Amino acid sequence: HTKILVWWYTFCMIVMKFGGTSVGSAERIEAVAKIVKDRLDKKPVVVVSAVAGTTNSLIKLANEANKVAREQLYEALVAKHEAIVQGLGLPAELLDAEFEQLHELSSSGKKPSKKTIDSFVSFGERLCAILLASTLVKMDVNAKAYPAWDLGMITDDAHGAAEPLPTSPALISEKILALKAVPIITGYIGKTQKGEITTLGRGGSDYTAAIIGAALKAEAIQIWKEVDGILTTDPRLVPEARVVSELAFEEASELAYFGAKVLHPKTILPAMKAGVPVQVLNTFNPAGTGTTIVSSFTERKEKSHSVEAMTFKKGVTAIHVNSPEFFDGSGLMAQLFKIFEKHKTSIDVVSTSVAGVSVTIDNVEHLEALTDALAELGTVTIEANKAVVCIVGGSVNAAGIAGKLFTVLGENNIAVELISQASGGVSLTFVVAESDAESALKVLHKSFIAS
Ligand code: ADP
Ligand code: ASP
Ligand code: MG
Repeated sequence: HTKILVWWYTFCMIVMKFGGTSVGSAERIEAVAKIVKDRLDKKPVVVVSAVAGTTNSLIKLANEANKVAREQLYEALVAKHEAIVQGLGLPAELLDAEFEQLHELSSSGKKPSKKTIDSFVSFGERLCAILLASTLVKMDVNAKAYPAWDLGMITDDAHGAAEPLPTSPALISEKILALKAVPIITGYIGKTQKGEITTLGRGGSDYTAAIIGAALKAEAIQIWKEVDGILTTDPRLVPEARVVSELAFEEASELAYFGAKVLHPKTILPAMKAGVPVQVLNTFNPAGTGTTIVSSFTERKEKSHSVEAMTFKKGVTAIHVNSPEFFDGSGLMAQLFKIFEKHKTSIDVVSTSVAGVSVTIDNVEHLEALTDALAELGTVTIEANKAVVCIVGGSVNAAGIAGKLFTVLGENNIAVELISQASGGVSLTFVVAESDAESALKVLHKSFIAS
């Protein structure tokens, strides 16, 4: 019976994550506090990022060798947070203990290790959690700030890209269920078993929210932003972009992977595995319906017959390997993939023909060694300054879509290569010259979405 009770209890909980922009000022933090207060019946578990820009400033501070410059950077960080404290009408000394610890950390001036940088950046989320929790308390909500490590976020020691230990989720759920107050938890950071501070990678607060939501088997994970949800494309590029009401995990991952800067790619995984839906909502428009990311593409595909969203990723390099032997050499393909694996380079898009194989990569760190090794298989051609365009939706593999796509691009003199369709028709990706990426997206958005 207790098991069922715990299940029922957690099933009714929501995890709410607020990004840097959503907590960027006293006014925004107040709006966020109100959004949380309005949802107390949902038993919210709140995850926050650092105040916008803070993580970058902390990395700068950590790396500044000059003492005077370091002091200035520190003072600027303090001033920025104190202005928010004042704007919220909170006690002036609210953040003093954290400021003092940060000051002590920054007194060394030694070239920081990855471990030390993690300690520096942890202050961004820690300060912000205190700001939001104190604002809620001022609004008569029983809220409390927690560094994630106090609630079971125990990670490996891969500083800068840490992963929670397999034992972490059970600990997280146990600790959170025992709380009386609404927890305001730091995103992005954790601690190793030895007690050293770690971070989950840039943009990692979404990941924290997903890990916690999956651990609790929450009703939903809400990612609150300053846009209406996942949009059909980057609104900074195409102002007519509109919100997509529903997407499958697979589609959202493809978008995230190919550059849509709206959800951290890793967010998708723990939530999908646990079958917890992710909602992307707008703090400026809390009544909006946002985007819901559901776990089954096959189910969603039954309902959706359109192209839903598109994105691009620049800075891509295309590699073509041509050899008559690809004609019957299935073994050659295996060798090719082995070479990429050996040189620690992951492939984004693959496209094959009788005469050869073309792939794209975005990490060119090992390009020279790769090229040498690939030369054993055939003639290698490298093309830099490419972009991958990715479109998703229930109909991207429907008859006519690809045809229309290439006609539209052709009419606009945009050359397309390396066309590839993900399995199950989740996405259609292709490569264009980097300089054509923006115009490709604009014309495609116009003909498929905003027409
Ligand atoms: P947060 O501070 O909440 O973490 P992000 O740093 O993730 O916010 O930035 C979100 C931004 O991503 C939005 O302001 C928006 O301009 C941009 N963006 C790019 N592509 C998309 C898309 N497809 N849908 C929504 N927003 C997008
Ligand atoms: N503050 C961290 C960053 O800027 C984590 C996050 O915002 O999600 O990368
Ligand atoms: Mg972010």
